[in-house]
Amino acid sequence: MTDNLQQRADAVMAHTYARYPLTLVKGEGTRLWDETGREYIDFISGIAVCSLGHSHPALAKAMAAQAAELVHVSNLFYTEPQVKLAEWLTARSFADKVFFCNSGAEANEAAIKLARRYGHQHKGADCHRIIAMEKSFHGRTMATLSATGQEKIREGFAPVLEGFDHVPYGDLTTLKKVITDQTCAIMLEPVQGEGGVRVPEAGYLEAVRRICDEMGLLLIFDEIQTGIGRTGTLFAYEHSGVRPHIMTLAKALGNGLPIGAMLAEDRVMASFTPGSHASTFGGTPLVTAGALAVLETLEKENLVQRCFETGQYFKKKLEGLLSLPVAKEVRGLGLLLGIELACEGTPLVKAMMEKGFIINCVQGNTLRFAPPFIITREEIDEMTETLAALLSGL
Ligand SMILES: *Cc1c(COP(=O)(O)O)cnc(C)c1O
Repeated sequence: MTDNLQQRADAVMAHTYARYPLTLVKGEGTRLWDETGREYIDFISGIAVCSLGHSHPALAKAMAAQAAELVHVSNLFYTEPQVKLAEWLTARSFADKVFFCNSGAEANEAAIKLARRYGHQHKGADCHRIIAMEKSFHGRTMATLSATGQEKIREGFAPVLEGFDHVPYGDLTTLKKVITDQTCAIMLEPVQGEGGVRVPEAGYLEAVRRICDEMGLLLIFDEIQTGIGRTGTLFAYEHSGVRPHIMTLAKALGNGLPIGAMLAEDRVMASFTPGSHASTFGGTPLVTAGALAVLETLEKENLVQRCFETGQYFKKKLEGLLSLPVAKEVRGLGLLLGIELACEGTPLVKAMMEKGFIINCVQGNTLRFAPPFIITREEIDEMTETLAALLSGL
Protein backbone atom coordinates (compact mmCIF):
# COMPACT_ATOMS: atom_id res chain seq x y z
CA MET A 1 0.00 0.00 0.00
CA THR A 2 2.84 2.39 0.92
CA ASP A 3 4.78 1.79 -2.27
CA ASN A 4 1.62 2.17 -4.19
CA LEU A 5 0.75 5.55 -2.66
CA GLN A 6 4.30 6.83 -2.99
CA GLN A 7 4.44 5.72 -6.63
CA ARG A 8 1.09 7.37 -7.30
CA ALA A 9 2.37 10.59 -5.69
CA ASP A 10 5.50 10.59 -7.84
CA ALA A 11 3.35 10.07 -10.93
CA VAL A 12 1.00 13.01 -10.40
CA MET A 13 2.66 15.51 -8.06
CA ALA A 14 5.36 18.06 -8.81
CA HIS A 15 8.73 16.83 -7.63
CA THR A 16 9.45 19.90 -5.53
CA TYR A 17 10.21 17.92 -2.38
CA ALA A 18 12.74 15.22 -1.57
CA ARG A 19 10.25 13.34 0.57
CA TYR A 20 11.14 10.60 3.03
CA PRO A 21 9.61 7.21 2.19
CA LEU A 22 7.11 7.58 4.99
CA THR A 23 3.33 7.96 4.74
CA LEU A 24 1.77 9.43 7.86
CA VAL A 25 -1.87 8.84 8.63
CA LYS A 26 -2.52 10.05 12.16
CA GLY A 27 -1.19 12.34 14.86
CA GLU A 28 -1.97 12.89 18.52
CA GLY A 29 0.01 15.07 20.91
CA THR A 30 3.72 14.45 20.30
CA ARG A 31 3.05 11.20 18.40
CA LEU A 32 2.61 10.36 14.74
CA TRP A 33 1.65 7.04 13.13
CA ASP A 34 2.41 5.70 9.68
CA GLU A 35 0.04 3.52 7.66
CA THR A 36 1.51 0.31 9.10
CA GLY A 37 0.65 1.49 12.61
CA ARG A 38 4.24 2.31 13.53
CA GLU A 39 4.59 5.12 16.09
CA TYR A 40 7.00 8.06 15.94
CA ILE A 41 7.83 10.89 18.35
CA ASP A 42 7.64 14.18 16.49
CA PHE A 43 10.63 16.47 17.15
CA ILE A 44 9.92 18.93 14.34
CA SER A 45 6.14 19.62 14.52
CA GLY A 46 5.72 20.07 10.77
CA ILE A 47 8.65 22.52 10.82
CA ALA A 48 7.75 24.55 13.90
CA VAL A 49 4.03 24.57 13.15
CA CYS A 50 2.13 22.19 15.46
CA SER A 51 3.28 23.67 18.78
CA LEU A 52 0.23 22.39 20.67
CA GLY A 53 0.89 18.92 19.29
CA HIS A 54 -1.27 17.04 16.82
CA SER A 55 -5.07 16.82 16.83
CA HIS A 56 -5.59 19.20 19.74
CA PRO A 57 -9.26 18.91 20.75
CA ALA A 58 -9.63 22.68 21.30
CA LEU A 59 -8.63 23.34 17.68
CA ALA A 60 -10.81 20.53 16.32
CA LYS A 61 -13.78 21.84 18.30
CA ALA A 62 -13.35 25.48 17.23
CA MET A 63 -12.94 24.48 13.59
CA ALA A 64 -16.01 22.25 13.58
CA ALA A 65 -18.15 24.91 15.26
CA GLN A 66 -17.00 27.67 12.90
CA ALA A 67 -17.32 25.44 9.82
CA ALA A 68 -20.95 24.88 10.72
CA GLU A 69 -21.50 28.64 11.19
CA LEU A 70 -19.61 30.58 8.48
CA VAL A 71 -16.50 29.59 6.53
CA HIS A 72 -15.87 32.45 4.13
CA VAL A 73 -17.45 35.68 2.91
CA SER A 74 -14.47 37.73 1.56
CA ASN A 75 -12.90 40.78 3.11
CA LEU A 76 -15.58 43.09 1.73
CA PHE A 77 -17.42 42.43 5.00
CA TYR A 78 -16.69 42.42 8.74
CA THR A 79 -16.46 39.07 10.53
CA GLU A 80 -15.88 38.61 14.24
CA PRO A 81 -13.19 35.87 14.49
CA GLN A 82 -10.59 37.91 12.56
CA VAL A 83 -11.23 40.97 14.73
CA LYS A 84 -10.80 38.91 17.89
CA LEU A 85 -7.58 37.39 16.56
CA ALA A 86 -6.19 40.82 15.63
CA GLU A 87 -7.16 42.11 19.10
CA TRP A 88 -5.36 39.17 20.72
CA LEU A 89 -2.17 39.77 18.72
CA THR A 90 -2.05 43.56 19.09
CA ALA A 91 -2.77 43.36 22.83
CA ARG A 92 0.35 41.20 23.28
CA SER A 93 2.80 42.77 20.84
CA PHE A 94 4.32 46.10 19.80
CA ALA A 95 1.86 46.23 16.90
CA ASP A 96 -1.33 48.26 16.49
CA LYS A 97 -2.65 46.77 13.26
CA VAL A 98 -2.74 43.38 11.53
CA PHE A 99 -3.09 42.23 7.90
CA PHE A 100 -4.08 38.57 7.49
CA CYS A 101 -2.95 36.30 4.66
CA ASN A 102 -2.40 32.58 4.09
CA SER A 103 1.29 31.78 4.51
CA GLY A 104 4.68 32.99 5.62
CA ALA A 105 5.77 34.05 2.16
CA GLU A 106 2.59 36.08 1.76
CA ALA A 107 3.13 37.77 5.11
CA ASN A 108 6.64 38.74 3.98
CA GLU A 109 5.31 39.92 0.60
CA ALA A 110 2.95 42.19 2.52
CA ALA A 111 5.83 43.44 4.70
CA ILE A 112 8.02 44.17 1.66
CA LYS A 113 5.19 46.01 -0.09
CA LEU A 114 4.39 48.01 3.04
CA ALA A 115 8.05 48.99 3.58
CA ARG A 116 8.37 50.16 -0.04
CA ARG A 117 5.13 52.10 0.06
CA TYR A 118 6.14 53.74 3.34
CA GLY A 119 9.51 54.61 1.80
CA HIS A 120 7.89 56.11 -1.28
CA GLN A 121 5.46 58.16 0.75
CA HIS A 122 7.96 59.45 3.28
CA LYS A 123 11.20 59.75 1.31
CA GLY A 124 10.32 59.53 -2.38
CA ALA A 125 10.06 56.90 -5.13
CA ASP A 126 13.80 56.11 -5.03
CA CYS A 127 13.55 54.92 -1.45
CA HIS A 128 12.72 51.26 -1.93
CA ARG A 129 15.79 49.14 -1.12
CA ILE A 130 15.67 46.59 1.70
CA ILE A 131 18.73 45.19 3.45
CA ALA A 132 18.39 41.48 4.26
CA MET A 133 20.78 38.93 5.74
CA GLU A 134 22.94 36.21 4.27
CA LYS A 135 21.67 32.70 5.16
CA SER A 136 18.21 34.15 5.79
CA PHE A 137 15.02 32.48 4.68
CA HIS A 138 11.93 34.51 3.82
CA GLY A 139 9.96 32.29 1.44
CA ARG A 140 9.62 31.01 -2.13
CA THR A 141 7.59 33.64 -3.97
CA MET A 142 9.53 35.94 -6.32
CA ALA A 143 9.80 38.81 -3.84
CA THR A 144 10.59 36.63 -0.85
CA LEU A 145 13.19 34.50 -2.62
CA SER A 146 14.80 37.76 -3.70
CA ALA A 147 14.91 38.77 -0.03
CA THR A 148 16.30 35.36 0.97
CA GLY A 149 20.08 35.36 1.33
CA GLN A 150 20.73 31.91 -0.13
CA GLU A 151 21.85 31.50 -3.75
CA LYS A 152 20.48 27.97 -4.09
CA ILE A 153 16.92 29.21 -3.57
CA ARG A 154 17.26 31.72 -6.44
CA GLU A 155 18.86 29.30 -8.89
CA GLY A 156 17.10 29.29 -12.26
CA PHE A 157 14.66 32.07 -11.41
CA ALA A 158 16.52 35.15 -12.62
CA PRO A 159 15.80 37.96 -12.96
CA VAL A 160 14.88 38.18 -9.31
CA LEU A 161 13.13 41.20 -7.83
CA GLU A 162 15.48 44.15 -7.74
CA GLY A 163 16.11 46.13 -4.56
CA PHE A 164 17.63 43.80 -1.96
CA ASP A 165 21.12 44.11 -0.48
CA HIS A 166 22.49 41.17 1.51
CA VAL A 167 24.95 41.46 4.38
CA PRO A 168 26.32 38.84 6.81
CA TYR A 169 24.05 38.24 9.82
CA GLY A 170 25.68 39.77 12.88
CA ASP A 171 27.99 42.12 10.94
CA LEU A 172 27.18 45.75 11.79
CA THR A 173 30.07 47.31 9.86
CA THR A 174 28.94 45.91 6.50
CA LEU A 175 25.33 46.71 7.35
CA LYS A 176 26.15 50.39 7.89
CA LYS A 177 28.17 50.53 4.67
CA VAL A 178 25.35 49.42 2.38
CA ILE A 179 22.78 51.91 3.69
CA THR A 180 22.03 54.66 1.16
CA ASP A 181 19.27 57.24 0.59
CA GLN A 182 17.47 54.48 -1.31
CA THR A 183 17.25 52.17 1.72
CA CYS A 184 13.79 51.93 3.29
CA ALA A 185 14.13 48.96 5.63
CA ILE A 186 16.23 46.26 7.26
CA MET A 187 14.67 42.79 7.34
CA LEU A 188 15.86 39.89 9.49
CA GLU A 189 14.92 36.88 11.59
CA PRO A 190 15.63 37.41 15.34
CA VAL A 191 16.93 33.81 15.26
CA GLN A 192 17.73 32.34 11.83
CA GLY A 193 15.86 29.05 11.40
CA GLU A 194 16.57 27.54 7.97
CA GLY A 195 19.96 29.27 8.06
CA GLY A 196 21.14 26.78 10.70
CA VAL A 197 19.42 27.90 13.94
CA ARG A 198 21.59 30.97 14.48
CA VAL A 199 21.11 33.23 17.49
CA PRO A 200 22.72 36.64 17.05
CA GLU A 201 25.27 37.89 19.58
CA ALA A 202 23.98 39.93 22.52
CA GLY A 203 23.61 43.58 21.54
CA TYR A 204 23.27 42.98 17.78
CA LEU A 205 19.51 43.52 17.49
CA GLU A 206 19.77 46.59 19.76
CA ALA A 207 22.44 48.04 17.46
CA VAL A 208 20.38 47.31 14.34
CA ARG A 209 17.40 49.09 15.87
CA ARG A 210 19.60 52.09 16.77
CA ILE A 211 20.81 52.28 13.18
CA CYS A 212 17.20 52.18 11.97
CA ASP A 213 16.28 55.02 14.33
CA GLU A 214 19.26 57.14 13.30
CA MET A 215 18.75 56.61 9.58
CA GLY A 216 14.94 56.64 9.55
CA LEU A 217 14.66 53.01 8.39
CA LEU A 218 11.96 50.50 9.16
CA LEU A 219 12.92 47.35 11.04
CA ILE A 220 11.14 44.20 9.85
CA PHE A 221 11.33 41.05 11.98
CA ASP A 222 10.42 37.84 10.21
CA GLU A 223 9.06 35.84 13.17
CA ILE A 224 7.39 33.24 10.99
CA GLN A 225 9.45 30.48 12.58
CA THR A 226 10.35 32.10 15.92
CA GLY A 227 6.95 33.62 16.76
CA ILE A 228 4.07 32.27 18.87
CA GLY A 229 6.16 30.96 21.72
CA ARG A 230 8.74 28.86 19.86
CA THR A 231 11.79 30.50 21.49
CA GLY A 232 10.27 30.53 24.99
CA THR A 233 8.70 33.99 24.77
CA LEU A 234 5.56 34.76 22.76
CA PHE A 235 7.70 36.64 20.22
CA ALA A 236 11.46 36.16 19.93
CA TYR A 237 12.02 39.95 19.99
CA GLU A 238 11.04 39.90 23.68
CA HIS A 239 14.40 38.27 24.58
CA SER A 240 16.27 41.43 23.58
CA GLY A 241 13.37 43.83 24.09
CA VAL A 242 14.07 45.25 20.63
CA ARG A 243 10.81 46.08 18.93
CA PRO A 244 10.47 46.05 15.17
CA HIS A 245 8.17 48.37 13.18
CA ILE A 246 6.82 45.43 11.17
CA MET A 247 6.61 41.73 12.10
CA THR A 248 5.49 38.70 10.14
CA LEU A 249 3.94 35.52 11.55
CA ALA A 250 2.69 32.25 10.09
CA LYS A 251 3.85 28.71 10.95
CA ALA A 252 2.62 28.16 14.54
CA LEU A 253 -0.11 30.81 14.39
CA GLY A 254 -2.69 28.28 13.23
CA ASN A 255 -1.02 25.08 14.52
CA GLY A 256 -1.31 23.78 10.95
CA LEU A 257 -4.09 25.92 9.49
CA PRO A 258 -2.96 28.02 6.52
CA ILE A 259 -2.67 31.48 8.04
CA GLY A 260 -0.11 34.27 7.96
CA ALA A 261 -0.12 37.74 9.45
CA MET A 262 1.77 40.98 8.93
CA LEU A 263 1.71 43.26 11.96
CA ALA A 264 2.83 46.88 12.17
CA GLU A 265 2.74 50.11 14.11
CA ASP A 266 -0.15 52.39 13.25
CA ARG A 267 1.89 55.08 11.53
CA VAL A 268 3.56 52.46 9.33
CA MET A 269 0.44 50.44 8.48
CA ALA A 270 -1.15 53.79 7.52
CA SER A 271 0.77 53.53 4.24
CA PHE A 272 -1.66 50.77 3.23
CA THR A 273 -4.98 52.27 2.15
CA PRO A 274 -8.04 50.63 0.54
CA GLY A 275 -6.82 48.99 -2.65
CA SER A 276 -3.09 48.82 -1.78
CA HIS A 277 -3.11 45.17 -0.78
CA ALA A 278 -5.55 42.29 -0.45
CA SER A 279 -6.05 38.54 -0.13
CA THR A 280 -9.19 36.55 -0.99
CA PHE A 281 -8.68 33.95 1.72
CA GLY A 282 -6.79 36.15 4.19
CA GLY A 283 -8.31 35.90 7.67
CA THR A 284 -11.39 33.83 6.83
CA PRO A 285 -13.70 33.16 9.78
CA LEU A 286 -12.69 29.48 9.64
CA VAL A 287 -8.92 29.89 10.02
CA THR A 288 -9.04 32.89 12.34
CA ALA A 289 -11.44 31.07 14.69
CA GLY A 290 -9.00 28.15 14.64
CA ALA A 291 -5.97 30.37 15.27
CA LEU A 292 -7.76 32.10 18.14
CA ALA A 293 -8.44 28.70 19.74
CA VAL A 294 -4.73 27.87 19.30
CA LEU A 295 -3.61 31.08 21.04
CA GLU A 296 -6.16 30.77 23.84
CA THR A 297 -5.01 27.20 24.49
CA LEU A 298 -1.37 28.32 24.48
CA GLU A 299 -2.20 30.86 27.17
CA LYS A 300 -4.60 28.73 29.21
CA GLU A 301 -2.14 25.82 29.40
CA ASN A 302 0.83 28.14 30.02
CA LEU A 303 2.67 26.50 27.14
CA VAL A 304 5.08 29.32 26.32
CA GLN A 305 6.57 29.08 29.81
CA ARG A 306 6.67 25.31 29.42
CA CYS A 307 8.49 25.74 26.09
CA PHE A 308 11.05 27.99 27.81
CA GLU A 309 11.71 25.53 30.64
CA THR A 310 11.68 22.39 28.50
CA GLY A 311 13.94 24.19 26.02
CA GLN A 312 16.56 24.79 28.71
CA TYR A 313 16.46 21.12 29.68
CA PHE A 314 16.66 19.98 26.05
CA LYS A 315 19.56 22.34 25.26
CA LYS A 316 21.56 20.93 28.20
CA LYS A 317 20.91 17.42 26.96
CA LEU A 318 22.15 18.37 23.49
CA GLU A 319 25.20 20.08 24.97
CA GLY A 320 25.94 16.76 26.63
CA LEU A 321 26.56 15.38 23.14
CA LEU A 322 29.38 17.87 22.55
CA SER A 323 31.84 15.43 24.14
CA LEU A 324 31.47 13.38 20.94
CA PRO A 325 34.04 14.42 18.33
CA VAL A 326 31.42 14.66 15.54
CA ALA A 327 29.32 17.24 17.44
CA LYS A 328 30.53 20.81 16.90
CA GLU A 329 28.08 23.30 18.35
CA VAL A 330 24.63 23.54 19.95
CA ARG A 331 22.57 26.65 19.14
CA GLY A 332 19.09 27.96 19.67
CA LEU A 333 16.51 29.37 22.05
CA GLY A 334 13.49 27.75 23.68
CA LEU A 335 12.40 24.75 21.67
CA LEU A 336 14.09 25.88 18.46
CA LEU A 337 17.40 24.07 18.77
CA GLY A 338 20.14 22.87 16.47
CA ILE A 339 23.30 20.84 16.73
CA GLU A 340 25.96 21.37 14.10
CA LEU A 341 27.85 18.24 13.11
CA ALA A 342 31.14 17.59 11.37
CA CYS A 343 29.26 15.26 8.99
CA GLU A 344 26.19 15.14 6.75
CA GLY A 345 22.95 15.35 8.72
CA THR A 346 20.46 13.73 6.33
CA PRO A 347 21.60 10.10 6.89
CA LEU A 348 21.09 10.70 10.62
CA VAL A 349 17.57 12.00 10.05
CA LYS A 350 16.82 8.75 8.21
CA ALA A 351 18.50 6.59 10.86
CA MET A 352 16.54 8.39 13.61
CA MET A 353 13.32 7.82 11.67
CA GLU A 354 14.03 4.11 11.63
CA LYS A 355 14.33 4.31 15.41
CA GLY A 356 10.99 6.12 15.71
CA PHE A 357 12.02 9.79 15.95
CA ILE A 358 11.17 12.52 13.45
CA ILE A 359 13.94 15.13 13.36
CA ASN A 360 15.15 17.53 10.66
CA CYS A 361 18.33 18.82 9.06
CA VAL A 362 19.18 22.30 7.75
CA GLN A 363 22.21 23.60 5.85
CA GLY A 364 23.40 20.02 5.27
CA ASN A 365 25.11 19.56 8.63
CA THR A 366 22.85 20.95 11.36
CA LEU A 367 20.16 18.82 12.98
CA ARG A 368 17.18 21.00 13.85
CA PHE A 369 14.69 20.26 16.63
CA ALA A 370 11.35 22.04 17.06
CA PRO A 371 9.10 19.63 18.98
CA PRO A 372 5.59 20.43 20.21
CA PHE A 373 5.73 22.46 23.46
CA ILE A 374 4.15 19.49 25.28
CA ILE A 375 7.19 17.29 24.63
CA THR A 376 8.20 15.59 27.89
CA ARG A 377 11.63 15.28 29.49
CA GLU A 378 11.35 11.49 29.13
CA GLU A 379 10.79 11.86 25.39
CA ILE A 380 13.77 14.23 25.17
CA ASP A 381 15.94 11.76 27.11
CA GLU A 382 14.89 8.93 24.81
CA MET A 383 15.64 10.92 21.68
CA THR A 384 19.02 12.26 22.83
CA GLU A 385 20.13 8.83 24.01
CA THR A 386 19.22 7.30 20.65
CA LEU A 387 21.01 10.13 18.84
CA ALA A 388 24.08 9.77 21.08
CA ALA A 389 24.29 6.06 20.26
CA LEU A 390 24.12 6.81 16.53
CA LEU A 391 26.70 9.62 16.74
CA SER A 392 29.09 7.48 18.80
CA GLY A 393 28.98 4.84 16.07
CA LEU A 394 30.14 7.28 13.38
C1 LIG B 1 8.87 28.99 6.78
C2 LIG B 1 9.37 30.38 6.73
C3 LIG B 1 8.94 31.29 5.75
C4 LIG B 1 8.03 30.89 4.62
O1 LIG B 1 6.77 30.50 5.07
P1 LIG B 1 5.78 29.72 4.06
O2 LIG B 1 4.52 29.57 4.85
O3 LIG B 1 6.42 28.42 3.72
O4 LIG B 1 5.61 30.58 2.87
C5 LIG B 1 9.42 32.57 5.81
N1 LIG B 1 10.29 32.97 6.77
C6 LIG B 1 10.72 32.12 7.73
C7 LIG B 1 11.66 32.63 8.78
C8 LIG B 1 10.30 30.80 7.73
O5 LIG B 1 10.77 29.96 8.66
